[in-house]
Amino acid sequence: MQTVLIAEDVEVVYPNGARALHPTRLSIEAGQFVVLLGASGAGKSTLLRALNGLVQPSAGRVVVPGLGSLEQPRLLHTHRRRTGMVFQQHHLIGRLSVLANVLMGRLGHYRSLSTLLPWSRADKERALAALERVDLLEHALRRADELSGGQQQRVGIARALVQQPRLLLADEPVASLDPATAERVLSLLHAICKADGLTAVVSLHQVPFARRFADRIVGLAAGRVLFDGAPAELSEPVLNALYGVATAVQSDHAIPTPASVRPPLSYVTEVPS
Ligand code: ADP
Repeated sequence: MQTVLIAEDVEVVYPNGARALHPTRLSIEAGQFVVLLGASGAGKSTLLRALNGLVQPSAGRVVVPGLGSLEQPRLLHTHRRRTGMVFQQHHLIGRLSVLANVLMGRLGHYRSLSTLLPWSRADKERALAALERVDLLEHALRRADELSGGQQQRVGIARALVQQPRLLLADEPVASLDPATAERVLSLLHAICKADGLTAVVSLHQVPFARRFADRIVGLAAGRVLFDGAPAELSEPVLNALYGVATAVQSDHAIPTPASVRPPLSYVTEVPS
């Protein structure tokens, strides 16, 4: 399997001293739908953002095989252009049309001054095609803030797709949606990734969604990877370990990690600090 991204002992300590991520080693393989699972505060968002350089590791580095490390500014730019992001709160510009919001996904493909020019026909066609894939074509000219939460998240997905990414990072993409809408949006996202062979890393806190959609689940608690494996291996003891220690995040004390929930060696991602 081809590796598309490697976190090499990435550690994140925020300026206020919060150790959000202990040194973590993780390889992402092409075409997989990887779910980062864990309670609120587990470090999912921090890890996901580190994979795109939105959070700077305090130690360790993120490497794109064949390109190099994200520490190099030019590589970071290339990596971000190739990486679509979907956020929990959509990050849409409400007063702009749905189509204009989707076109924002093309910005990374241009030098700064060319963004003053009108969008090309090819870009508009790409944006409309992306909207068709998320079933929102007929809403293309509506203001984004007139859409429902689920529709807005589908616009967010279309904006990521129009970037023609090689990797998709989604940070709690359905956390603010009701369960039925969340299920529909996640199904759509999963189906698109599978149809395109698009590698995805998606953070979620809902276990049933992780079980249903993930090829691989990386379970985090208190800034450490406690589980890394197939959904079928996600047992009750693992879940207890993932959700039972959620509030201990700020402490530097070792989290009790029962032998039964330790990942197989080939999957080990946690490096003792
Ligand atoms: P999750 O995505 O699993 O909810 P986060 O990565 O958002 O977890 O947070 C992990 C820990 O880091 C939490 O304790 C959170 O309070 C802390 N944290 C997150 N972002 C920041 C920040 N910008 N500054 C300080 N602490 C932060």
